Amino acid sequence: MRIVLVGPPGAGKGTQAAFLAKNLSIPHISTGDLFRANISQGTELGRKAKAFMDAGDLVPDAITVGMAKDRMSQPDAANGFLLDGFPRNVSQAEALDEMLTTEGMKLDAVLDLEVPEDEVVKRIAGRRLCRNEDKHVFHVTYSPPKTEGVCDVCGGELYQRDDDSEETVRRRLEVYHTQTEPIIDYYKAQGLVVTISALGKVTDVTERAMEALRSDRAAQA
Ligand code: ADP
Repeated sequence: MRIVLVGPPGAGKGTQAAFLAKNLSIPHISTGDLFRANISQGTELGRKAKAFMDAGDLVPDAITVGMAKDRMSQPDAANGFLLDGFPRNVSQAEALDEMLTTEGMKLDAVLDLEVPEDEVVKRIAGRRLCRNEDKHVFHVTYSPPKTEGVCDVCGGELYQRDDDSEETVRRRLEVYHTQTEPIIDYYKAQGLVVTISALGKVTDVTERAMEALRSDRAAQA
């Protein structure tokens, strides 16, 4: 399956993507994680991306699209993938369509995670990530680690992302509304969008997402 996950920052895309990718046996490809990995490895690409990320802006397409395509061309993505954070504007969506068409492939679904804005701000302000592995995500009140500041999974140190400050979150939300939301209409025109509520327990949202994808497949068959 080839799935795109969309939703505002703080919708829980990364958390859901990790579970969904596992359930569906496809790789989870997150452009945000790829950028953060480049930053922590000190690469040229990471150096270029960091200033945009810290400001809450999109990293320019010239950097992002090539990186995403490279990752999608890896052997583990040959039979499907779950895209998280890409595409993030209409021109990226067009670039993705072009790439898929060239390969004779198509998307199966675009899963849209809906969450009210005040909830988004609460989620992001309390979000903590593990220094060893971005996919180990906690929240100071919603899913606290057993020991404060320490990752339950691997013992790594937990930290707050540089772009999770309140000011940057507001900018990221604005960027989401103006640049990313239009891709929902773009994909609606292709009949691909499945919308679910991202409120409630993580496991409930995963179940809701799996059910929505199953009924979407059944409807298409
Ligand atoms: P979130 O979904 O919580 O905002 P991500 O980890 O997906 O966080 O992205 C963090 C930042 O990385 C974005 O604010 C943006 O600066 C950059 N980024 C990630 N994906 C893209 C993309 N497809 N195009 C441009 N910038 C991106």
